[in-house]
Amino acid sequence: MCGILGIVGVNEKEDVYNELICGLTTLQHRGQDSAGLVTFDRTFHLEKKLGVASEVFKQNDLDSCRGAWGLGHTRYATQGETRLMDAQPFTLNHPYGIAMVHNGNITNFEQLRENLAQDHRYLIETSNDLEFLLYTFGLELEKTGMFRVTPESVFQAVEGVQRKVQGAYATIALIAGQGMVAFTDPCGIRPLLLGRKDTETGPAYAFASETKCFDYLGYTPIHQLGAGEAIFIDANKKIHTHSGVSKRQAFCVFEYIYLSQADTSFHGRLVASDREKLGHVIAKRFQERGFDPDIVIDVPSSGYFFAQGLAEALGIPYKKGLIKNNQAKRSFISPTQALRKKIVHQKHNPLKTVIQGKKVAVVDDSIVRGTTSKHICDLIRRAGAEAVYFVSGAPAIKHPCIYGVDMPDPGEMVAAIRTEEEVAEFMGADAVVYPSLEDMRSLYQGIGICDACFSGEYPSNVSEETLEAIRQEKVLSCR
Ligand code: SF4
Repeated sequence: MCGILGIVGVNEKEDVYNELICGLTTLQHRGQDSAGLVTFDRTFHLEKKLGVASEVFKQNDLDSCRGAWGLGHTRYATQGETRLMDAQPFTLNHPYGIAMVHNGNITNFEQLRENLAQDHRYLIETSNDLEFLLYTFGLELEKTGMFRVTPESVFQAVEGVQRKVQGAYATIALIAGQGMVAFTDPCGIRPLLLGRKDTETGPAYAFASETKCFDYLGYTPIHQLGAGEAIFIDANKKIHTHSGVSKRQAFCVFEYIYLSQADTSFHGRLVASDREKLGHVIAKRFQERGFDPDIVIDVPSSGYFFAQGLAEALGIPYKKGLIKNNQAKRSFISPTQALRKKIVHQKHNPLKTVIQGKKVAVVDDSIVRGTTSKHICDLIRRAGAEAVYFVSGAPAIKHPCIYGVDMPDPGEMVAAIRTEEEVAEFMGADAVVYPSLEDMRSLYQGIGICDACFSGEYPSNVSEETLEAIRQEKVLSCR
């Protein structure tokens, strides 16, 4: 998972690098391993660093980042070391000059690697699959044979990419002096939105992974790219749209549940409100099973809105029962089990006065390995709870994501190899409560979602061999 941003600024006199950095800080939860930006005036100006956007860029580095058009990226490396050479954006000097960022994961990378090497003598140098997208887009654009790009030539190149490159990719490309194009894979799995800001000297446009970014930068969201859609903003800031190669829309439902922040909206729906609605649904599961907790608490902070909804529907108080150590990193996006364990143990502290003698429903957004959940159950028990019901805002996760979200092998997923009772026993809870897959599907009816990590139904029809190759390769996501 990564955060991407592209800005077409107000006019040539105003550099966008400050706005890019500010925007990247709002997408920081999508990746904390590296941050990068590129701007364009007569040439590309590229700055990439390991670490978070708010800390790594120094004014000295940025003084040369001139230009009113630019791209930004925050990276989460899912596997292996974090290397600067894998940080985005990437640039290519032919044809035209192209800079590119993406969020997602390509599933036919071996086939692409072979084609690029044999047919075009390209060497893939990094472990970032953006290279496949960038070279393929460049080759497709060159094939159109135009001296200057036109919307038609850009869209033809996008379609060429969509036919050749499989998997999930929300992509933004800056074509030197010619325009900026944003496009998604044929299923529209990863999020990408267009925003507009009107100023006295003209409009500015931004593409971003989340509307939260627009709120902070003063843009109004005007469109969310659908499956296979492409939008090109030309050098005169005229917008051209194209439907591209598309299949069934399969937007990642885990964006609603965990990945995106609560103040983001997708498809006109506020993520926070949908999490509350799932809390209401989970209340029905409590009533069916005859559980009667005294209080609802959340695992801060991603369980909060599910907990609010659950408490409201059950008619019992929501309390703050766990205090989060804000200095701890997000454990889910830490690269090793040892580091995750260390972070988990530094993360929360229970409030005994709230928990002691109570039957506690404790709510987290989801349960993956169960590492955090087991520790939380233990903390709550030791704080004197009479009963612990561990609630997941998401249905049971049983399958790996092959579209750019780091999930362990099913063997490490607590729900993949255990019954609900065994999960509760493993975690030391009196019970675990999930919404069902059908509960979640009915909430998002009409949108077209990917729910493969819950159902095992992958929207891009990957074969068992490809799945196994991806598991073996273990180089997922923005790499
Ligand atoms: S498998 Fe899960 S995390 Fe991956 S894209 Fe689909 S819903 Fe999102």
